[in-house]
Amino acid sequence: MVSNSVGAAGDGSGREGSADADAGGADAGGADAGGADAITDVRLVDGAGLSPECTVLIDNGVISAIIPAASAVTTAPGAVVVQGRGGTLLPGLIDAHVHLLGLPDLERATQWGVTTMLDMGTPAMALTDSLRHRPGLADIRGSGNSASAPGGIQTTRMGMPAASAVTGPGDAPRFVADRVAEGADYVKVIVEDPAIMGAAALDVATIGALVDAAHQAGLKVIAHATTAAAVRLATTGGADVVTHAPLDAPLGDEVTAALVASNTVVVPTLTMMRAVAAAASRGQLPTHGAGVSFDHARATVSAWHRAGLAILAGTDSNMAPRSPAQVPHGESLHEELALLVDAGQTPADALLAATAAPAAVFGLTDRGVIEPGYRADLLLIDGDPVRDIRATRNIRGVWLAGLPAARPQAD
Ligand SMILES: [Zn+2]
Repeated sequence: MVSNSVGAAGDGSGREGSADADAGGADAGGADAGGADAITDVRLVDGAGLSPECTVLIDNGVISAIIPAASAVTTAPGAVVVQGRGGTLLPGLIDAHVHLLGLPDLERATQWGVTTMLDMGTPAMALTDSLRHRPGLADIRGSGNSASAPGGIQTTRMGMPAASAVTGPGDAPRFVADRVAEGADYVKVIVEDPAIMGAAALDVATIGALVDAAHQAGLKVIAHATTAAAVRLATTGGADVVTHAPLDAPLGDEVTAALVASNTVVVPTLTMMRAVAAAASRGQLPTHGAGVSFDHARATVSAWHRAGLAILAGTDSNMAPRSPAQVPHGESLHEELALLVDAGQTPADALLAATAAPAAVFGLTDRGVIEPGYRADLLLIDGDPVRDIRATRNIRGVWLAGLPAARPQAD
């Protein structure tokens, strides 16, 4: 499948000039052994169109220059020059909402061109840490445990430790200190709808105290919210990012206006919401009497787009057995892009939602664009994704800090 079309993992396809490299001559001032030193004759997304063909030079995993395609590429003997003619080069994709359980999750996502994954809640930060810094695989950030209300399903059914329940505003600094101690990159807060979850929903004072403590520690807060009432609570509580687009009803103009006024970023996870709506329609999930429909989520994202909210592409991809719905890593981000376009974004908007926009929101200042000085996280595809977003699936090659995507160990 995709692994067969990713032709840069050491099998010689799509590469030139590496056959007679000896160990001493392989360093052309480029990436580590096997890394690309140049990708030639590619077009880049440039506003709402594509640039003329150009060549991207890479040095030590970082984009060093972009030169006209007609220029002679001078590299040292043994340099890896990837012929990209006819292709479009994109920044590696960033999935702003995933849950990682192990190495196969990273491998699958990477094969699909996802070069950064933002984990949004794990029972064990040690697991997230064990997956970090693997050459040729997606780079990851994580929230560690999610904050939730005592007695909620997070701690009783979904495997989060009891200490991740926050008993009130006074307990918020303790929770955030625990996340800082375990090296969390941001804080995830489960904001439930009190009309559904009763006492197992965090109140607005506790949400606000979590936001204050996180901000004092220099961390952003991402709030899970799946109903209109929960989105309102999260916004009032001051969350920086709200994730999921509610299925119970289209979000009213008033709540959208509040999101705009507070500059809140949204991560709709349409792929997950569609899977949840499908599971609910089969009677596999409780709906609490609400008229659950994916059409509501789609309408809300359309309204968010028209209102000018910052929208990030995130899938909620996970293979967790106790999840409301399993969403495959990697491929789902391409589906999310198509769903964002279906909801009203232009393809160029959707590409930004999976590259430069999440990089800016999450402070990943070394990635998200193809410019000198940025990480060589790159995705080479056939076709023009600005005309047809589905072209992102036509993957020819994936590089992570200049290294070709690692082959899955078992697939
Ligand atoms: Zn999630």
